[in-house]
Parts: sequence; C-alpha cells; structure tokens
Amino acid sequence: MKIYNIYSESLKEKYGEKVYKLPINLPLTCPNRDGTLEKGGCIFCGETAAGFESLPCKMSIKEQLEKNMKYIGAHYGAKKFIAFFQNFTNTYLSIERFEKNLYETALPHIVETCISTRPDCITEQHLNIMKKFSSDTGINISVEIGLQTANIHTLKTINRCHGLAEFIYAVNAVHSYGFPVCAHVIIDLPWDSDEDVRETARILTALKIEGAKMHSLYVVKGTVLADMYEKGDVQLLSKDDYIRRAILFLRNLSPCCAIERLIGRAPKKDTLIANFNISWWKIKEEIESIMEKGAICQGDCSKLCI
Ligand code: SF4
Repeated sequence: MKIYNIYSESLKEKYGEKVYKLPINLPLTCPNRDGTLEKGGCIFCGETAAGFESLPCKMSIKEQLEKNMKYIGAHYGAKKFIAFFQNFTNTYLSIERFEKNLYETALPHIVETCISTRPDCITEQHLNIMKKFSSDTGINISVEIGLQTANIHTLKTINRCHGLAEFIYAVNAVHSYGFPVCAHVIIDLPWDSDEDVRETARILTALKIEGAKMHSLYVVKGTVLADMYEKGDVQLLSKDDYIRRAILFLRNLSPCCAIERLIGRAPKKDTLIANFNISWWKIKEEIESIMEKGAICQGDCSKLCI
C-alpha cells in the first residue's frame, strides 16, 4: 500500500529518471521585510529566509546551477535537474530582471524551473513571462507558494501580511496557465488547532494543489519568534503533536498531492530550536511507521477526493 504520494517518485514518473532540485540564491527581499507591507517579516523568518543550503548570492545563476549540477551529477549520476528560485520572494523584483533570471536557467539538463514566492506577489505579467519562457525553451514551470495555515487569525499572528483569499487567488491564477503549485505549510503552529490543520489540508485539496511541503515551526535566532520564545510568550508544540498533526494533515489531503517534505530541515547553528532537537529523518520514519502499522494513508479521511 502506498501510504503517501512521494514527490521524488512523482518526478521519476514524470521525467523517467531521478530529478534533483538545485537551489538558486539571489540577493532579494520581500515586501513583508522591506517596509512595503511591513518591516519585521513573518515572525519566524530569518536573515537567510529558506535558503541555508544555497550557494553565495554573489555567484551568477548560471554559476550556481553549473556548480551544483557538477557536484550532484558526479555523486548521484544525475542527468536531469530542476532550477529552483528558493530564497525570499523571487517575483519581487523588476519584471525585466525576473525575465532575465528565468532565461538564465535555460541550461542543458534543466528540465524544470521552479519559482518560490508569496501569494500576493505573482501577477499576470509574471505568468505570461513564464509561459513564454516555457514555450521558448521547452523547460517546464512550477510555482511554490507559502501559505503556512488556512487560519486567517494565525496568519495575522505570524505576521504574514496576507490572508487566505490571496492564496486562493494566486493558486487559481497559476493553475489557469497550466502550471503546478506546491504549497508550504507549517503543521505545528501553536495558535492553530487540529481542526485548522485539517482545514488547511481540505483547502489544498479543494484547490487541486499538486504538491505540499510540510514543516515544523523553527525558532531561528534573531527573529521575533526567538524573542517570544526566550521571554516565554510562546509555548511550542511537542514532537508527538507534530506527528499527530502531520498524519491528520495527510489523511485530509488528496492522494494526488505529492509530498515534497514530511518535515523540513534547519541548520542547528542558526536556530534556538528546530524539529524538537531531533533528526528530521527520525521524525519522518516515525510518521511513516505509524501510518504503515495503522494502515493509514494519504487522503483516507478526505471526503473531497473524487
Ligand atoms: S513571506 Fe517569506 S521571505 Fe517574506 S518575511 Fe515571510 S517567510 Fe520571509
């Protein structure tokens, strides 16, 4: 029995072999950090945003991709890759620069270019450029959008500066161009209830989202969350809570949605606490083992699946 839809396997089916994602790190920011919407950013967002595994942003896109391709190609015999604009908000820059960046990923062995962004930072202009890029180069496009939770009160608490409506609007816009969407969710937000986690999965299912990345709430040094944590203003959930909620999320998510991560990874040196100070793979194995033993699988509680 397939307990959940594993992203790497769905890529293998799509491209006929293993495909590796190569992060691209650009010197960008975000309207939630530069003062356009807010100055502080999301309460958990650190100086390096999500890109701690990336190469230095002073390297060109081509240099970053070629260096990583060479390394991963040599170590794993990989021949196909996804260029992944990972860090901060990759559509928050001039439209000319966005277009130029996209075309810089048109290198041999790149089969897909993935753009990570906020739901309120993607426009028809970006989507038209992506469409043209894909038809000019034959490279597929995918888009990653941060949601974290469907609970608008929690979105406010974590200072996302967007609501659920922006997310729904962005997903519909991206889908109307035929591009798949992967959503980022934080499973163990202490301000969410289990019911919110279930509803987040149901929203992704209703929107027919193609992928999900599940994370725990890391406390990155120097963030608003770190300050709250140190003052005792926030009580984090436990590893067992994460596992319970992760399984609840998966059971309410369509089996068509590929799971890119059951839990994220964070660098120890930058965090006060991440993944309950337990290796991510141990938590992943525990989730898989509970699901296997209980004959539980992704989507088995979803009444929305057809
Ligand atoms: S939207 Fe992303 S980059 Fe912007 S502040 Fe939030 S986590 Fe950081």
